[in-house]
Amino acid sequence: MPDALPVVAVLATGGTIAGAQADATSAGYKAGTFSVNDLLAAVPQLAGIADIRAEQVANVGSQNMTHAVWRALAERVDALCQDASVAGIVITHGTDTLEETAYFLSLLIQHDKPIVLVGAMRPATALGAEGPANLYNAVALARHPDARGRGPLVVMNEDVHYAREIQKIASAGLCAFASPNRGRAGVMHGGTPYFYSRNTTTHTTQSEFSLALLEKASWPRVDIIYAHADLQGDVIDFVADTAQGIVLAGVGDGNATDLAIAALSRAADAGVTVVRSSRTGSGFVARDVELDDGALGFVAARDLNPQKARILLMLALSVTRDAAAVQALFDRY
Ligand code: GLU
Repeated sequence: MPDALPVVAVLATGGTIAGAQADATSAGYKAGTFSVNDLLAAVPQLAGIADIRAEQVANVGSQNMTHAVWRALAERVDALCQDASVAGIVITHGTDTLEETAYFLSLLIQHDKPIVLVGAMRPATALGAEGPANLYNAVALARHPDARGRGPLVVMNEDVHYAREIQKIASAGLCAFASPNRGRAGVMHGGTPYFYSRNTTTHTTQSEFSLALLEKASWPRVDIIYAHADLQGDVIDFVADTAQGIVLAGVGDGNATDLAIAALSRAADAGVTVVRSSRTGSGFVARDVELDDGALGFVAARDLNPQKARILLMLALSVTRDAAAVQALFDRY
């Protein structure tokens, strides 16, 4: 008897990888058209490397990803991590918010089992669609022992990225993903992963954010303010009325106009937790460079981008409202 193939669960959520066009060269298309079984049927080679168990969790363009889908996905991933018969998990996802779902799962799922997110920039019906190759690589990675203990990983265009580091850096084209601050995790070559680095931040089994957070009826509201020349304070006052946390996507090292900083300071005084991050796409936001974060009661996002800082702040505020404690979480995650 040949050895049984490892079981890999494939959870589909939609996106361009499941998107259809009117014809193979048109730019317009509808994300989340094909089912998970359609996706798998396009990659018959998967039958040679894994015993696939497919599930449709959602079928949306990931611009419509919601906290409700995240809850359902996290619960399902956790259950599959506890199922000893499953070697690894693949999640197909739209590319727009793929990095956010990956980071969210890295904070909440406390298991070492490989979890691999994958998408595609070209719809399934496009000439040269890369979804089937990406899906093959994702399954090959999810079944590989070297993928264990690294937190959720993302495979796109033969690159492997850590959940915290990956960022969509282009709106079109195959080279749309990078890990600008700490670099790629590795590459897939001929269906085999080659890792270049360890994950340097806290995740999964070391995470103190447990799935118990999913039981909360709602998570604290955190909004992102995008800084620009001549930013006024009134938009921040408006947001601060309903938010428990604000992430500033600041210019440069997380900065903004005097008017905006004054409004953020008012928000912090009123109990809103303010995190300064950078809109630049890479680099580090340190404390107390051009602003006195201690006096203002602000938190520095370090090298976490604004959209991921929003997720960490949302979970952080579910366990503490103390700015120093929130800063300590941003220093670790
Ligand atoms: N906006 C769609 C999504 O994120 C399409 C982008 C993609 O998947 O590449 O699902």
